[in-house]
Amino acid sequence: MGAYNILKVDIKCQNCSSIFMVNIQFKFGDTWQNQYLIGDLIRWGGADIGMPGLDKVKVYGISELDKCPSCQQPIFDEYEIIVEKDIIKYINPIFNLEDYDSNDGNYVIPVQS
Ligand SMILES: [Zn+2]
Repeated sequence: MGAYNILKVDIKCQNCSSIFMVNIQFKFGDTWQNQYLIGDLIRWGGADIGMPGLDKVKVYGISELDKCPSCQQPIFDEYEIIVEKDIIKYINPIFNLEDYDSNDGNYVIPVQS
């Protein structure tokens, strides 16, 4: 799937409650296998996707795992990564993929109300 970045994040299994780390692949910022944690600042200045300094952006992410390593039950594997002012704030499972029909499906700038 080409170059992407990785967000490392702890996920809790909805079935057995075990907590494990997953790599979530996303394309935003300088896209070159950069690794991030929640709270990190997005880097720019290379193979950039998107724009720096946005107030809020939702970035599409997909987990490299789709099963819990303990109980083998399926887990959510598509997440939205909330980035505010280039800082990775939190993630949510994606329930509505239709949001991601712009910008090659990589990110969405929410409408400011
Ligand atoms: Zn589990």
